[in-house]
Amino acid sequence: MPICPQCQKPVDAQELSCPYCDNPLKAFGHPGIPLYQSSDGTSLCDRCTYHLDDTCNFPQRPDAKSCTLFHDASVPLVGAKEIPTSQLGWRGFKNWLYRYRGLIAIALLILISVTIALSSS
Ligand code: SF4
Ligand SMILES: [Zn+2]
Repeated sequence: MPICPQCQKPVDAQELSCPYCDNPLKAFGHPGIPLYQSSDGTSLCDRCTYHLDDTCNFPQRPDAKSCTLFHDASVPLVGAKEIPTSQLGWRGFKNWLYRYRGLIAIALLILISVTIALSSS
């Protein structure tokens, strides 16, 4: 459950504003647009990915205390990709065989040809 950055009380993730202190928790009154806020009064930009890579062109940069686009620079933008369990074990081996079936067929043809050539000489 998220915490209200103003009063530090737990609030429902869908709340538009804090039921305790009326602090807005979503931008433009829309439940799908999160509003990131600094809880200690410092600028969010100092720890934002888009400030550090210099791609932000918001006018409130570099002193934004609240922002809809903030992304914590300590959290990767794209999460580590997990290998699906379908790619592990026997099923993964079958997928690998299917993916490289053309190369495997050519390798088998070469192996059979070499075997026949060696056995006939
Ligand atoms: S996206 Fe927001 S928090 Fe990030 S640098 Fe721009 S204004 Fe600052
Ligand atoms: Zn609050």
